[in-house]
Amino acid sequence: MIVSPTPKALEEALQFLHAGDLIGLPTETVYGLAADATQDLAVAKIFEQKNRPSLNPLIIHGATQTIFQEHVEWDERAQLLANTFWPGPLTLVLPRKLTSSISLLASAGLETLAIRIPHHPVALDLLKKFGKPLAAPSANRSGKVSPTTAEHVAEDFPNLFILNGGATTIGLESTILDLTSTIPFILRPGGILREELEAVIGPIQMHDSDTIKAPGMMKSHYAPHLPLRLNALGPQPGEAFLAFGPTAQSDLNLSITGELQEAAANLFKMLRLLDQMEFTGIAVASIPMQGLGLALNDRLQRAAAPRDL
Ligand code: AMP
Ligand code: MG
Repeated sequence: MIVSPTPKALEEALQFLHAGDLIGLPTETVYGLAADATQDLAVAKIFEQKNRPSLNPLIIHGATQTIFQEHVEWDERAQLLANTFWPGPLTLVLPRKLTSSISLLASAGLETLAIRIPHHPVALDLLKKFGKPLAAPSANRSGKVSPTTAEHVAEDFPNLFILNGGATTIGLESTILDLTSTIPFILRPGGILREELEAVIGPIQMHDSDTIKAPGMMKSHYAPHLPLRLNALGPQPGEAFLAFGPTAQSDLNLSITGELQEAAANLFKMLRLLDQMEFTGIAVASIPMQGLGLALNDRLQRAAAPRDL
């Protein structure tokens, strides 16, 4: 449903977001499929709706710099870039604060967060009123092109409540800059060019290959310290057991009722909990290869892959 962004429609959008539902949000880059970034289940809905084969980390949107300060470790470079390019199509990847209330699913279990302030009056108005960050990837189903009008969004998501902000002015995704290394690097090129960024903070790499980082720090996906054993029927001696569905025997259960959305919402926080305890490994029950299960299994396989050391 496409609605024009009247005060009444904004109120309705806020109600959807508070209730953990998704909305279609205009930004200056592309339209986003937005959810309350602090609600695990709401974020799980994004992955379910997008039908992505993997649980990729999402960009977290906020209205002001201050809203991000409780979620990321802010530094001088971030400050300079934010002052220069925000609101605008620049996403900054920064270390996530341990105390951040943003869903671990939204960052796919990573210890970083990708954040930005979008330059669109409707998005800014909504974000200000919402007062919390929104997780929002592009509002298209996996494999389709990114939507630059409300109509494009409605084609992929006919039942979604979509705020109509007109055609996007940029139509290209944001530039993503990783600030977690000594020399920052561009994770995704976009509307803001390397030269423009370098004019503000000095040298930037296009790839992470030549930055100096300790091995293991470059993980682009979450992996626990303990070895992970997948499709387990139960734990072996010393192992923790992360179950799925009804079972008597488990340390934690992704979803006792066998719901994939709940399992996605719990995945990273439960793996992290078990990874901190006195076990020799984590055995994970099998998860059906259907719907969100494909993305869940993809992430589990990556997390279980041999470490590149
Ligand atoms: P989309 O929102 O669909 O345009 O895609 C978001 C992009 O941001 C993806 O390429 C993600 O891999 C990237 N991204 C989001 N969060 C992070 C993060 N914490 N670290 C690195 N990349 C990220
Ligand atoms: Mg996309």
